Parts: sequence; structure tokens; C-alpha cells
Amino acid sequence: MNNSSIVMRDLKVLWHPCSQMKDYALHSNSQDTLPLIPIKSANGVWLEDFEGKRYLDAISSWWVNLLGHTNPIINQAIKDQLETLEHVMLGGLTHETAVSLAEKLVSITPPGLDKCFYADNGSSAIEVALKMSFHYWQNQGQIQKTKFITLENSYHGETLGALAVGDVALYKNTYAPLLMETITVPGPDCYFRQENESWEDYSIRRFAVMEKTLEQHADSVCAVIIEPLVQCAGNMRMYHPVYLKLLKKACLHYNVHLIADEIAVGFGRTGTLFACEQGNITPDFMCLSKGLTGGYLPLSAVMTTDGIYQAFYDDYQKLTGFLHSHSYTGNALACRAALTTIEILQQQNVITNNQQLANLMSNATAEFALHPNIAEVRQTGMIVAIELIKNKQKREAYPWQQRRGLKVYQHALSQGVLLRPLGNVIYFMPPYVINESEIALMAEVAWQGIQLAVRE
Ligand SMILES: *Cc1c(COP(=O)(O)O)cnc(C)c1O
Repeated sequence: MNNSSIVMRDLKVLWHPCSQMKDYALHSNSQDTLPLIPIKSANGVWLEDFEGKRYLDAISSWWVNLLGHTNPIINQAIKDQLETLEHVMLGGLTHETAVSLAEKLVSITPPGLDKCFYADNGSSAIEVALKMSFHYWQNQGQIQKTKFITLENSYHGETLGALAVGDVALYKNTYAPLLMETITVPGPDCYFRQENESWEDYSIRRFAVMEKTLEQHADSVCAVIIEPLVQCAGNMRMYHPVYLKLLKKACLHYNVHLIADEIAVGFGRTGTLFACEQGNITPDFMCLSKGLTGGYLPLSAVMTTDGIYQAFYDDYQKLTGFLHSHSYTGNALACRAALTTIEILQQQNVITNNQQLANLMSNATAEFALHPNIAEVRQTGMIVAIELIKNKQKREAYPWQQRRGLKVYQHALSQGVLLRPLGNVIYFMPPYVINESEIALMAEVAWQGIQLAVRE
């Protein structure tokens, strides 16, 4: 078996996510498309294809992997679980692993998040949080509360509810007629701050629009939904924790829920276990997925408060219960992978030790920002983003058809690094088991790729 035989079989039967399938078919004779890379095996930060070529997984396989591929401790834990219980429905039944994980999540998430509702992917967790918030207000007799406030440039997943509260045109516009209306507020994205304005000052300044919107619409609004600190799919745009503090305070004041989507930023990506910790806030709902299982199995969780839980708790006949379900809710193998991942994070002091890796990434990219086609290099914890720009003085972006990021991607692949930029934003979001020389390689290859991509 070799690479091309797998790709040929694949293209006959498989339809890939987030892909124009024609790109893959054309690749052999085009410079402007993405190749399809067949992966045979993986270990640590490395992926390997069918011909022995290795790729450094600099983006943690869409941000899910935390502790390396085929991590021996997680592998063993899943095998042990498999011998005991693989899966059982969670309606009317329960099992030890689901209970232990819920206890663990309650103990590590911000204080006050005392209840855990499982789903099986990130988008579903968002759907759960939206429905729970809406339903809470219905149960409270506040039936006029039906809307959601969301930030510009936000991303919350691809199912219809999640897409409706997101704001990435590329994914959303086609489906606009199917989506509920939301109130979209200009965000705190610090890329747009004035020269010499600090992240903090800009985030405070931008909060004024949110405050005004809440003041105006609170009566009809169930919740504000945000990605704390980093809008990941929205080109890794970042903002200051002060925004979280101000927003939490305003949500309390105006009697509106706060939904924190920590699906991408949770489990240490921003330097703390959860991004909300940096604003010292407890949201009403916290959505978790991606890193939750260490990148092994699909699972998500919505953490919420006892107060919200109690609003649903009554006699069955009153129909106040939350009757939402997914077949694989609380899957035992996924729960075991999650529990083991969190145990490793705690026992090996991973989040604290990451500080050193974050510093190494910062040092490795320190001079990038001087390049005339790099608008800025920004970093929050274990996420570093490099934004390419056509004309730095005029702050003129490349037209979207000029896919400079794609050229970086292609170069990096040829050098054995998987980067997969977001448009013209190159970013590093590696597993936490990356080492110093691998960080150096990742940065060097990105630098070479950028030089090639901005030529012409
Ligand atoms: C990936 C992501 C989602 C959606 O999760 P899926 O498992 O892909 O459905 C939602 N919110 C954020 C912030 C994400 O990054």
C-alpha cells in the first residue's frame, strides 16, 4: 500500500469536511490546491504517511490533541475501559466513568459550575447551551427572552443553531435563510486597536458597544455567547481578559446568561486550564469539547450552575425538564479518555510547564513581526498567530483569492510540518508534548514558507 493508492480509493467514496473536493482531485497538476495526505500512523507530535514521510502536527489535528498521538497512558486507559464497559445509554442508566468525569469537571472548572450535561461534539454542546438558556427563561415565565447576542468574527460550530450564533461569512452566508436571527455586536478583537493602544484599553473601549446593546435588548435576550480570549476559527484573533470581567458584570446586571464557549481554548490553550480563569469569572454555561478527550474520541460537556439546573427540576407532568439527548451521550470510552487526560494534566503539572513552551514559541517568532508582510505576531499562552499582510503601512490585506497561507501550507508540508493556516494567518497550536527542537523546526519552516509566499 502506498500514498496514491489510498488517495485513489478515498476519492471514490469519501466526502471530506471543510473541503472543496475538486481541490484534492486537481492537486497533481495545480499549484493552487490542497493535497490529501494519507496518514498511516502517529506518535507524539508526529504523523506518518504510507511512504514513511513524517509531519509535525503543529495544529494538534484541528486543536484536539493535547498530550501527543497514541499516548501510552491514554491508550492503556481506553483498553482497560474497553474490557469493562464500552458504552451504555445514559437515559435511565449511568456508569462509573461518566460519574467520575463529571465529578472531575465540576472540581476543575470555575466555582459554581456544579452540573455537567454530556453531548458528543462541540456544535452539539453549543446547541445544548442555547436551548438550556432559552428553556430556563421559559420555565421562569420570561417567555419574551428568545434572542442571543454574539460577537463579530465568532465561531461556534456548524450545526444550524451554532452557525446562527457564529459570524464567519465563509461558513455561514450560504445557509443564512435557514438561521435564526441574532444580535451581532462589534467585538474586542485587538488586531484593530490603534497604534500604541494597549490590548486592555482597546478591549475596555470596545466593551461600550456591548454594554449599550445589553441595555437596549436585555428584555428579549437569553444569553451572550463568546469565545473567551481567542476567536480561534476567526483567524486566531485575541483580546484582553478585562473584557470577560466587564461582560460577566453586565450580564448579571441585565439578567442575561453568559455562555463561554471554551471548546477550543479550554484545557490549557490560553495558558490557564480555562480561559475564564484569566477574567476570574464563572459563566452560566461553559461548553467543552476538542481537548476534553485529549484528541482521542468525540465527547463534549456543558457545565452549568445549580441555579439553572433547579429551574428544570419539577414533576414530569409540568414539562419543565430538559428532554434533549444524543445517542452517544456520556460514552464510556470517551469519558475514560477524558478522565485520563485530565489526570495527566494534573499529575504532570502540564499547564505550569507549558509556560516554558510558550516562551520558546515566543522567542522563536520574536523577529517575525519585523517582516514587511507580517502585520503582527500575537500570542495567548500556547497559541501563536502570524498575520500576513499585503501592505503593512496601509494596513492593506491580501485579497481573499490570493491564498498566501496556502503557499506556506504547501511549503511546510514539503518540509514535514503540518501548519494548515486560516486564510492568511499562520498559527502554531501544537500538542503540549512538543520539544524545543521541534518548536525551532516549526518556526523555521513557517519563516521559509512566508518568505516564499510573499514573493511576487
Ligand atoms: C470547533 C469549535 C466548535 C465546534 O466543535 P465541533 O466538535 O467541530 O462541532 C465550537 N466552538 C468553537 C470555539 C470551536 O473551536
